[in-house]
Amino acid sequence: MTKKRGFRIDLHVHSMYSGESLAEPRDILDAALERGLDGICITEHHSLYASRPFDELKREYPSLVVLRGVEISTDSGHMLVYGVEDTEWDDWGKNRLVNGQELIDRVRKLGGIAIPAHPWQVMAGAGNQEGLHFTVDERITTLRNLTAIEVCNGKGLCHPIICEILGTYARHRELGGIGGSDAHVPENVGNAYTVFKTPIYSSRDLVGALLSKMYYPQTS
Ligand SMILES: [Zn+2]
Ligand SMILES: [Zn+2]
Repeated sequence: MTKKRGFRIDLHVHSMYSGESLAEPRDILDAALERGLDGICITEHHSLYASRPFDELKREYPSLVVLRGVEISTDSGHMLVYGVEDTEWDDWGKNRLVNGQELIDRVRKLGGIAIPAHPWQVMAGAGNQEGLHFTVDERITTLRNLTAIEVCNGKGLCHPIICEILGTYARHRELGGIGGSDAHVPENVGNAYTVFKTPIYSSRDLVGALLSKMYYPQTS
């Protein structure tokens, strides 16, 4: 048996509970195992409640760490939230466009971490397909108290270039860089993931590890 390097978690996955995906939870977890992941974090849109059925299911997958976060729309773009409990999320409401800075600070106070998801944009007037010019989403450049950004998102067709741009930006700001597939179908699970130096078994472990910055994004 070859020894795997690092602990690999896909930190950004959607299922049928997201509202815009048809992916069955079991198919997602099977796919995660097939791709050799050590863990997966379900991040449904706007609701931490939505992914509760995964808590039941994870007993059937003892070799896979199954965590739950949430993806929230803010005025600074989408953000992935890890390490908050259901009751805490309930306090904020979900039927409004959340202020990005407010979200980061509130989540941190609750013991969790909010991380900008796919924070890139195409430069306006950048020309044809070949001449597309990607840059960091300017909305995140003024955010304070950031821990990390999602450097590699499996959904972007040009993700090698985007990963490079966001990775450089993260290093420049001394932020961590995570990876997640943003999969909406099982086949895409694990297209991007985060490699942690130490094993993670709970949301609390995840928050601690994200703060440690001992991890890096990876695509496959
Ligand atoms: Zn998103
Ligand atoms: Zn997403």
